[in-house]
Amino acid sequence: MAYTLPSLPYATNALEPHIDTMTMEIHHGRHHKAYVDNVNKALESHAELANKPIEKLLREISQVPENVRQAVINNGGGHANHAMFWEIMGPGGGGNPSGPLADDINKTFQSFDNFKAQVKQAGVGRFGSGWAWLVLADGQLKIISSANQDSPYMSGQTPIMGVDVWEHAYYLKYQNKRPDYLDAWWNTVNWTKVAERYSKAKSGSL
Ligand code: MN
Repeated sequence: MAYTLPSLPYATNALEPHIDTMTMEIHHGRHHKAYVDNVNKALESHAELANKPIEKLLREISQVPENVRQAVINNGGGHANHAMFWEIMGPGGGGNPSGPLADDINKTFQSFDNFKAQVKQAGVGRFGSGWAWLVLADGQLKIISSANQDSPYMSGQTPIMGVDVWEHAYYLKYQNKRPDYLDAWWNTVNWTKVAERYSKAKSGSL
């Protein structure tokens, strides 16, 4: 079964003014769609792989045949990363996390402000295209960045939250000002969803 482009869980203008409508339309309707179309094309003759959840395929990337592996990394990774990205944003976002997620962020990164500063640094410091992530690695929260559409799943880490720092994610509104985009992006975060992902990650169901 082929992978499908998930619907946005809110309208394309729902994240205004932090992320503009046209960016959302192009990002979801064209960029994410292209990743889905291209991973499906790459796996046309590997139906047994295309039947697996994309996260599982990325976790077991070394078992993907070499002639399609890079296509799965790029496009399957792009599909998984963007599906996560739409899920953890939403209208009326921002504020602070609560519950075990907030406790563990404070414990691991000293404070929420310090956590945000480190995520921003990971995003600003990623040269070229990629992502900044909060992952669960060996039971610990960790901030990392990845190049291109590389997924944390490929290195055995579970993505809790990630922010896209490809220029296509911000250029129309922020041009070259990636730090401004990263500052504004916090206003879109749906902490309830991030906390759900954290809880699932800890129980091994993400
Ligand atoms: Mn993107």
